[in-house]
Amino acid sequence: MWNEVFRELQNVSQHCNGLFEWDLSMEEKWGSAWRECAKCNQSIYRSKMFNLYEEVASIKRGRRAAKINLGLQVGLQHTPISTASYRKICMASNIPPPSVSSLQHTSNAISEKIEEENMRDLQRQREKIKRIKSYAGKILMLLTFKLTVYTIIIFILALGRPLFNQQPSVLIL
Ligand SMILES: [Zn+2]
Repeated sequence: MWNEVFRELQNVSQHCNGLFEWDLSMEEKWGSAWRECAKCNQSIYRSKMFNLYEEVASIKRGRRAAKINLGLQVGLQHTPISTASYRKICMASNIPPPSVSSLQHTSNAISEKIEEENMRDLQRQREKIKRIKSYAGKILMLLTFKLTVYTIIIFILALGRPLFNQQPSVLIL
């Protein structure tokens, strides 16, 4: 951003020795994402607005969500911290907190996605358990078959052999 602004100012006014600063009157805040523009403190130069955040890729038309806002909600939904507590932490750390309405808005959008993802994850777990059960069933069948065969073999061998010692007892006269 700054490289672009310096280059632009050199094209507009090569002899200006002004310093850049944020134009706070133009500042825009969406949750925890900021849009800013730079101004020269000695001339009328104003840059275009710059997103100071990364956007989430989307095929939908209109403003794209900021990664930081979505990431924050994912984090909040995986911890017991409420949005009110998060705002208090921000304020205690001297960080401008996102508004309650913007947090709520992003939370609603994220909840649906998390629910969808959880359902997909459950489906994957179910498929995995099915596979394990089917595999375990096959192994059990194989073991039962082997055991039956061994039992039959032992039984057949046992038939050919006297169960008790049939030798006549020796009479001592
Ligand atoms: Zn200037």
